[in-house]
Amino acid sequence: MDVKHAEFMKSATAPSHYPESELPEVAFAGRSNVGKSSLINTLVNRKNLVRASRTPGRTQLINFFSVNAQFVLADLPGYGFAAVPLAVKREWGPMIETYLAKRETLRCVVLILDVRRVPSREDLLMFHWLRNYSIPTVPVINKCDKVSRNERMRQAAVIYRALDLPTNDFVFFSALSREGREDLWERLELLLFQ
Ligand code: GDP
Repeated sequence: MDVKHAEFMKSATAPSHYPESELPEVAFAGRSNVGKSSLINTLVNRKNLVRASRTPGRTQLINFFSVNAQFVLADLPGYGFAAVPLAVKREWGPMIETYLAKRETLRCVVLILDVRRVPSREDLLMFHWLRNYSIPTVPVINKCDKVSRNERMRQAAVIYRALDLPTNDFVFFSALSREGREDLWERLELLLFQ
């Protein structure tokens, strides 16, 4: 995918505020600090389309971007950040589940996992919703540059077991080395445009 144009559309929490669009949409989900912003920026070849490190404690929003006027990219708020106030944390579940249930143009979700971590309760909850709503999911094992090949395979086995998906479904990714960028694009193009 050659990204010629990418721009912020709007932020929203509720369906009435989602951007009106007929274009296919892909959403990105993962716990805070999993490298979601870096992954999106690597995919679209922009330094700062998606800003890293949002101030914790603010209302969490879904950020929508238009890419090449061909598809919409939705950046879902990261979860599991300890310093987020409880009231804000409570809003996360209903907001995400509503989005997954109601967004008709949603074609697939990229679920980003850290190669060094066992999937968290929220990762599994997210995955459970994706299955419940029959939303095609591309699981990504991220920050692969941080571990050796052996460690990667050991950790991957833990993640495979937790999600119980075919091992071929997973994309190994690194924003640092850009490993996995082509692989991820290939899968997204199939899910978005076919
Ligand atoms: P987000 O909170 O999920 O959006 O995560 P960010 O993209 O802001 O990344 C969190 C931290 O991880 C930052 O310090 C990034 O520089 C770092 N990071 C993100 N992706 C990678 C990666 O693939 N490899 C390495 N080594 N560090 C990464």
